[in-house]
Amino acid sequence: MDDFFTKKNCDRCGCPLTKGRIMSMLNTDCICLECKAKEKFHSRYEEAKQAELEEIRKGNYNYAGLLQQGKITDKLYEQILAIRDLGQYNMLNVAAIQKEAYQRKYFELVNLIEEDLKVYMSFILYGIR
Ligand SMILES: [Zn+2]
Repeated sequence: MDDFFTKKNCDRCGCPLTKGRIMSMLNTDCICLECKAKEKFHSRYEEAKQAELEEIRKGNYNYAGLLQQGKITDKLYEQILAIRDLGQYNMLNVAAIQKEAYQRKYFELVNLIEEDLKVYMSFILYGIR
């Protein structure tokens, strides 16, 4: 948040923020305009927008957002990217991803898919960590 104006790259896709930046409606990510356009299709976007308005009405101007998760830890991030980089799987094929994760002893990822599928999907589809 403090580095919103000094950040050089998008928190979601990592691209340079040369064409503009905006705060995500879903969490406190500083994102590029392409990621902003994309997040409007998130199934909980409207819900997040209402929640934000509600908090502002209550006087809370520091609402972290409906999807402020922080659940995709650095370890999970590395595990997901390691499987993605194999180029063998559609990352939406969760059964296959979970099986591969199990074989690689990526138990954090196995558990994430089992217990928090929405968090996994939000990361795969929108880059929300
Ligand atoms: Zn982006």
